[in-house]
Amino acid sequence: MSTGGGLAVGGGLIGAIFLVIKFLLGGGDPSQLPQQIPQESRELTAEEKAKDDERAHFVKVVLADTEDVWAEIFQKLGKTYEKPTLVMFRDATESGCGYASSATGPFYCPGDEKLYIDLSFYQELQERFNAPGDFPMAYVVAHEVGHHIQNLLGISEKMSRLRQQLSEGEYNKYSVKMELQADFLAGVWAKYEANKQLLEVGDIEEAMSAAQAIGDDRLQRQSQGYVVPESFTHGTSEQRVYWFKKGYQTGDISQGDTFNDPSLN
Ligand SMILES: [Zn+2]
Repeated sequence: MSTGGGLAVGGGLIGAIFLVIKFLLGGGDPSQLPQQIPQESRELTAEEKAKDDERAHFVKVVLADTEDVWAEIFQKLGKTYEKPTLVMFRDATESGCGYASSATGPFYCPGDEKLYIDLSFYQELQERFNAPGDFPMAYVVAHEVGHHIQNLLGISEKMSRLRQQLSEGEYNKYSVKMELQADFLAGVWAKYEANKQLLEVGDIEEAMSAAQAIGDDRLQRQSQGYVVPESFTHGTSEQRVYWFKKGYQTGDISQGDTFNDPSLN
């Protein structure tokens, strides 16, 4: 925002989203909270529960927003957009891709076309980055929806064939391209949102500096103190920002061919 600074997106896009929520949805009713709670998980306090409900509500609104944008883009391509199903969980869940704990983080499963959003991950994101503007949370949803787009476009299927043919090191390179393309697609979504003049590049950069902390290089440095590029599965923070911004600046999905980009070979 021109008047804001920091994660001022909260006053813009997300603020607008919240206004829309209030009008359209009234009270929150996150209906897809944990189906299966592991024994060791403790009950949330009333305050934590309220915050979780808020996050769940936010996720639904952002997802609805991505549906509008992708329906529009698919229509331009002469295709029909099929929505993914949202599953929100805490601690652990069963999925079409197997058992997932909160250590997995948010993910998309191509097999059942469901978006698995881990609310404890969101709690961490908010608390760690003190990001009341919530753009990083929106970005995570948009990234996972990016994987759904890849599934609809047949890219996920090609990837699973490659997985059988390539060595792990070679496959990881493709996996990075896949992840960066999902970031790119999240950027395309943000571009459509920004067409209402609610976002500026500065906001995106600031939001990305929080979101990029999910980059594999950061995670590896934190967990083992050194970086092993060939084991990256999501790309470096710099690459993630680059592709997100490319999507954001072009708003054109034909610009997102990470698989044939010379810088990634
Ligand atoms: Zn991903």
